[in-house]
Amino acid sequence: MKKMPVYLDHNATTPVRPEAIRAMAATMERVGNPSSVHGFGRAARRILEDARDALAALVEAPGSALTFTSGGTEANNLALRGTDARSVLVSAVEHPSVMEAIPKAQIIPVGSDGVVDLDALDGLLADAPKPALVSVMLANNETGVIQPIAEVVEIARRHGARVHCDAVQALGKIAVDFTGLGVDMMSVSAHKIGGPQGVGALILRDGVSVQPLMRGGGQERRRRGGTENLPGVAGFGTAAEMAAGALVEYGALATHRDRLERDLGRLTNDLTVFGVAAPRLPNTTCCAVAGLASEILVPALDLEGIAISAGSACSSGKVQASPVLEAMGQGPWAGNAVRISLGWTSRTEDVDRFLSAWTRIAERALGREGVS
Ligand code: PLP
Repeated sequence: MKKMPVYLDHNATTPVRPEAIRAMAATMERVGNPSSVHGFGRAARRILEDARDALAALVEAPGSALTFTSGGTEANNLALRGTDARSVLVSAVEHPSVMEAIPKAQIIPVGSDGVVDLDALDGLLADAPKPALVSVMLANNETGVIQPIAEVVEIARRHGARVHCDAVQALGKIAVDFTGLGVDMMSVSAHKIGGPQGVGALILRDGVSVQPLMRGGGQERRRRGGTENLPGVAGFGTAAEMAAGALVEYGALATHRDRLERDLGRLTNDLTVFGVAAPRLPNTTCCAVAGLASEILVPALDLEGIAISAGSACSSGKVQASPVLEAMGQGPWAGNAVRISLGWTSRTEDVDRFLSAWTRIAERALGREGVS
């Protein structure tokens, strides 16, 4: 009998929750533009605003603070390119949608644990042209390392700087409190929390404004022109409701993650887990074994029906050094690093299947002496 595939790449994208699929299908069966004033339009607007409220509740922000976008990438671009700041500082481990939005941004270094260097941030801000904007992610997509955003905000405030936080990977995995974090702008994306691909949101603190990237139509309080992706937004809202009720369950994934790391450590003589000394998301492990190239491991696991990724999803398919690991001073490991990311569908059996497949592949590649 053919075995079910094992999906351990939730940081790339999550399986869509059945409840979100139903909400999207129901929306697609209706007609109505949320900007129309007739009854069909008003019903569509209600779907839009209900979804906005559900997401607002998950991120602990007022609904009026949310602007729906086409995803996390657009939210990051809107935050960074729509700013009037004279200088932008971004951490060295940001997602490419932050890095490439402002190619001339100054880089805030991170330590070998992947955590942003707060003294360096303070020094850079002291010299930066004002007003400045700082962008530091809440959790890293490759390593799962969680950044000390409250401290980043405190330092930024001392220098009169604004703070943007990419919370795309943190949302749904740990509690994310926009108001409590004290940031000015925050990006989120539906497909990392059991919603559909192609929808996200930028959250703005009261009084903070951005220049729209999309003009025309005046939707989303004139922050983002264009008819909203209503089915996608409906799916996002439902996924947000589900995520709010599943945070404890999500935290428990750390048990699987820890077992996976412990067993991999026992099975191999030379395992490195990146960011292990820092606070991390409960679902993510990024690790490498000497002599076991990710180029060999990832396709070999794929042949066994097990999906993990080499570095970040955006760079898989072309083998290149991970800038995140480079920034952590772990560049030499880049060719061996793999990311295993669990999620709402993950079960003990998935970890068992991964470990036994991994052992077979490692024995083939390293010989029996490489695997204990
Ligand atoms: N930011 C982070 C940290 C991500 O991991 C991703 C996607 O992998 C994005 C932003 C981009 O989000 P989207 O795929 O919705 O454009």
